[in-house]
Amino acid sequence: MTAATGPRQTASVVIDNAAVATLDAAGTEHARGHVIVTDGRIAAVGAGPAVRPAGPHTYLDATGCLVTPGLVNTHHHLYQWATRGFARDATLFEWLTTLYPVWTRLDAEITAAASAAGMARLALTGCTTVADHHYVFPTDGGDQIAALVDSSRRTGLRLHVVRGSMDRGRSQGGLPPDNLVEDTEQALVGTEEAIRIHHDPDPLGLVRVAVGPCSPFSVSRELMERAAELARRHGVRLHTHLAETLDEERQCLEENGRTPAQYADDLGWLGEDVWLAHAVHLADEAVQRFGETGTGVAHCPSSNGRLGSGLAPVRHLLDAGAPVGLGVDGVASNESGGLGEELRQALLVARLREGPRGLTVREALRLATMGGARCLGRQADLGSIEHGKVADLAVWRLDGLGHAGIADPVAALVLGPAPLAEHVFVGGRPVVAGGELRTADLDSVTRDLRAACRRLTEVSR
Ligand SMILES: [Zn+2]
Repeated sequence: MTAATGPRQTASVVIDNAAVATLDAAGTEHARGHVIVTDGRIAAVGAGPAVRPAGPHTYLDATGCLVTPGLVNTHHHLYQWATRGFARDATLFEWLTTLYPVWTRLDAEITAAASAAGMARLALTGCTTVADHHYVFPTDGGDQIAALVDSSRRTGLRLHVVRGSMDRGRSQGGLPPDNLVEDTEQALVGTEEAIRIHHDPDPLGLVRVAVGPCSPFSVSRELMERAAELARRHGVRLHTHLAETLDEERQCLEENGRTPAQYADDLGWLGEDVWLAHAVHLADEAVQRFGETGTGVAHCPSSNGRLGSGLAPVRHLLDAGAPVGLGVDGVASNESGGLGEELRQALLVARLREGPRGLTVREALRLATMGGARCLGRQADLGSIEHGKVADLAVWRLDGLGHAGIADPVAALVLGPAPLAEHVFVGGRPVVAGGELRTADLDSVTRDLRAACRRLTEVSR
């Protein structure tokens, strides 16, 4: 692959001689095609060689590669890069009660180091957009949201920062310790401030904000209801964890006489502006309600496997018409941290649950692209390679030992060894080039992460 000269950030880019999976509504693919990017958007996509533009441009001969839309990660907790490898054989509630005391020591510097490392790993695995659900705001922890936004600008990844919150400590019957929760008013003020300071609705903008009380077992009914009202007043999206484990379902039934999905419905938490993480334990009626209301699901198969939470009804959600995207989830429950491998996990898990028709190879790729874009309300801008859309792209090299000669490039991506991305563009800007991160120095990102892990855990271990 060769790169001709040209300005780096806003120049046109020509990607030529590659297989292209557009993920448009018709599922158009080209065995040998091209993509042209101008001013951060897709200017052309089609079969055969590109007609090169007259002006300055970067030319990539992508022979042996597959071009897809950049992957969209619909659920993450980037700060958890600093706490991998804890509670290795635990249930969700055991895992949480082990980690909460560690997280009380989190500060903005640690979050900055962890989130930069997490975003670097995501970029190298072909991810261009990450929805980061941040719900830990220790007293004296500094500006956590600003730390995340800074990491997005440092690495060049598109960030939907979900301003989380918890107001239900142990003394209120919740799971987290009291010193890790905010009071209801504080949580709402902090959330509104995050929207005011950081939310950028421009399709080419790098940062958006969503509203995300953590989960029904760590948040009061009042905060769930007022958070929904706040989000809708500002026209931003809503996100929370829901129906992840049977422990959660038991607790919700005891406290409210309702399943988590029924409880969410009661509180106005189902709708086209809502996407929910996990949704593993859903009755058939709940699946239908998700479809009718357009409620999205962030499916996190590796995390669900790591914590033994269960197998989400992805086939049924898709058949009901609900948007479904993929999520890494925090790397304290998915130490791998890459999105590429979740395609394979999603397919295997769906077929284990439903049999061989559980999910097709191309549906798995669609979950990670258009499905994720729908969850985040970005289907008009992101998730497919179509003229005029934002140029968030992943170029996968498939001619090495792991994939060479395979009959189908999309099968290589989904079923083969998870490839690292050769090139990644976010809004036309090269974030990964030649398999290397170009926006930040990987050695210093790794060094900062190591120091942050040491500082966070030196007392806790
Ligand atoms: Zn999560």
